[in-house]
Amino acid sequence: MIGTNAAVTSAAVTSAVVTSAVVTNARILTFDDANRVIESGSVEIRADGSIGAVGKSGRALPPGTEVVDAGGRLLMPALINCHTHLYSTLARGITLPGAPPRNFPQILKRLWWRLDCTLNEEDVYYSALVGLIDSAKCGVGTLIDHHSSPNACAGSLDRIAQAFTEVGLRGALCYETSDRNGARKAEEAIRENVRFLERTAAGAPGGLLGASFGLHAAFTLSDRTLRQCLEAKPAGAGFHTHVAEGLCDAGAVRRLADLGVLDGRTLAAHCLHVDAREIGTLARLGVNAIHNPQSNCNNAVGTARLLELMRRGVAAGLGSDGYSPRMWDEFKTAFHLQKLRTGDPRVGYAEAYAAAFVNNREIVRKVWGMDVGRIVRGARADLILVDYFPPTPLRADNLFGHLLFGIANAPLDALMVNGRFIVQNGHCVTLDERAVAEKASAQARSLWRRFENSCKA
Ligand SMILES: [Zn+2]
Repeated sequence: MIGTNAAVTSAAVTSAVVTSAVVTNARILTFDDANRVIESGSVEIRADGSIGAVGKSGRALPPGTEVVDAGGRLLMPALINCHTHLYSTLARGITLPGAPPRNFPQILKRLWWRLDCTLNEEDVYYSALVGLIDSAKCGVGTLIDHHSSPNACAGSLDRIAQAFTEVGLRGALCYETSDRNGARKAEEAIRENVRFLERTAAGAPGGLLGASFGLHAAFTLSDRTLRQCLEAKPAGAGFHTHVAEGLCDAGAVRRLADLGVLDGRTLAAHCLHVDAREIGTLARLGVNAIHNPQSNCNNAVGTARLLELMRRGVAAGLGSDGYSPRMWDEFKTAFHLQKLRTGDPRVGYAEAYAAAFVNNREIVRKVWGMDVGRIVRGARADLILVDYFPPTPLRADNLFGHLLFGIANAPLDALMVNGRFIVQNGHCVTLDERAVAEKASAQARSLWRRFENSCKA
């Protein structure tokens, strides 16, 4: 356990920038441009939730500074999940009546599109709360969520935002616009996106909440609705959409590009079924392609051409698509899949590393201007402490081996977001985890009953 709880409370966020705490005696991985490994290092946490001085431990501290002794643990930036669906959390273990779905369109129609239509406002809130606690305990400080609850649309993003605030994580939200439930539902979705984009435009303290404009995918959106979305989207906001996840959405890049949907702020989840010309289009327009390797395996939809995407200049990040809160597992799977795809054991290192530790932070910066994912002066203090005491030399040039074989498997001790501890000693400290689990479980029982009834209807 760490020595002191030096949490910076939200009340302190608006105060002048003064040193609030210093984490000392840590082995620091900075993930900055020099990618430094600092032995016995310290990081200053300022009262506004940003990082101050970073360096060796041992310098004199101003009187009254809280000292957090990391006990030699590994300190690195909190992880980032660039595409997830928190609404799927309460589906864990749900029974789908009848024969198992045989393909991706059947998975969508029989499970996800039926589940999202069943969700009420309380389901949305508890799904988010549980999913965020799970993520926090896996060291994830920032999530970009893609939400759908067609029968509880208006205000749904506020309930998810409430969960983010209660757990204390950083997130950007959007609502999934689609024509699959008719024009009226599509219009409601557009209104929810615009409303939440306007709400977050003023900025939450410490940049904890951001937003994008959600689209489901080209194959469930008419040109007319896409044009409505383009018209309604506030200037400066980007779209967050699925792109070519299954063969049913092949050709999506071409169509979305022709309509003017794609640009440097677009988050395009998956990009699996894209041809060489479409990869060129993604690169030219600066689109952020979000790779979700475990979900792709689970749905048997294919493997991303991550090497080709990156070689041709597409900014590819990493998400979970709601499959798992553990971004370490997504990182590993991204790496392994490229070896399998190419039959070449030499590949995948640079690409998996870049997606998880470089591009994800750049994507967060592009979506809502937050400087996370690196330990440098001025960046947000989103940090994790890991119980990792390397048994072999750890240097900047052999970091990948430690990340893959060691740090990814080591227990998380603490997560700090915006200078505030969210997890300590492996437990969420911002709320009562067990009480949330009990309430969520009762909510899930009700959701499952309603889901079962909708299957019979
Ligand atoms: Zn998705």
